[in-house]
Amino acid sequence: MGSRRTLLTAVVAVVLGPVIAGGCVQMAPAVDYRPDTGDAGTHAPEPAPAGERGTLARGDASWIPPAPQPRAQPPEASPAPRAPATPEAGGTSPQPGGSSPDADQAPLLREFSPAQFVELFYEVDLPNLAPVTSPPPITGDEAADARIRSIAEGRGYRLQAEATGDLVPVDGRPAQPQAAAAWRELAAAAADDGHTILVTSAYRSISHQRDLFLNRLENALGADPHERLDEIAAGEVDDEINSVLRTSSIPGYSKHHTGYALDVWDGNLPMVRFGETAAYEWMSADNFANAKRFGFVPSYPHGVEQQGPMPEEWEFVWVGTDPLHH
Ligand SMILES: [Zn+2]
Repeated sequence: MGSRRTLLTAVVAVVLGPVIAGGCVQMAPAVDYRPDTGDAGTHAPEPAPAGERGTLARGDASWIPPAPQPRAQPPEASPAPRAPATPEAGGTSPQPGGSSPDADQAPLLREFSPAQFVELFYEVDLPNLAPVTSPPPITGDEAADARIRSIAEGRGYRLQAEATGDLVPVDGRPAQPQAAAAWRELAAAAADDGHTILVTSAYRSISHQRDLFLNRLENALGADPHERLDEIAAGEVDDEINSVLRTSSIPGYSKHHTGYALDVWDGNLPMVRFGETAAYEWMSADNFANAKRFGFVPSYPHGVEQQGPMPEEWEFVWVGTDPLHH
């Protein structure tokens, strides 16, 4: 415990030192501490080689999903009944991340199919959220926005709630306090097992998401979307819109608005290749046991159709430990 706390403290001191001094962060449009370039993989320490499978160069909307990584993929359970499966770990510790990090005291974890992981996020009642009841503008043009929105919703994107109240930094990113606390416990447990896992994006405002989406749409169109409104509305650039939606949400539809979604990487490979890392293997083994111990589940797992973007191994959402444990 002592070494774990020391390590965590060291990580916090190094990574969060400049921002944690201020304590809680007020919710505000300019809440990001470091540039957040969104889900499409530009958090990498260096540009990924162009054209390589599973990578995305800056501004490149034609991302190719990574090839399946057998060692890193959990068994894709066929759509299973929601009934809890047989416990896979012994012990009865009801809460993870407390004072009992030892594996032999792991909590009893429920099993979920990929689709059940996705639905869980919408079923749990998470605190500090305000519903977004009407879709926010995208380009500001009603007809063009309706077209983009219908394509997005057809892919499975759903309106998300927005964070309310104070957010706190985790690896320099603003996140919901409970998710941030749980993530620090998870990262400490990963470190104990020799893995580095860092948050690269957490809360993202609707206006920030709008900027991200429009920038990528501009790249895909080769022109400012505001100069192509008629074509967008007429359905003449649906392919370009779809290419962006493979990796980027429209404003109002990103789970990052909630402050409960975290994009992570191992500090080495680009974020979009997190699925290839030993850290992901640690997270995802045994039906994501090490994520579930701390209340996290995969946000866009493999094996689910029409969930919005392509599968994203690097995004996890916090749902709390209650629905994940027996
Ligand atoms: Zn994300």
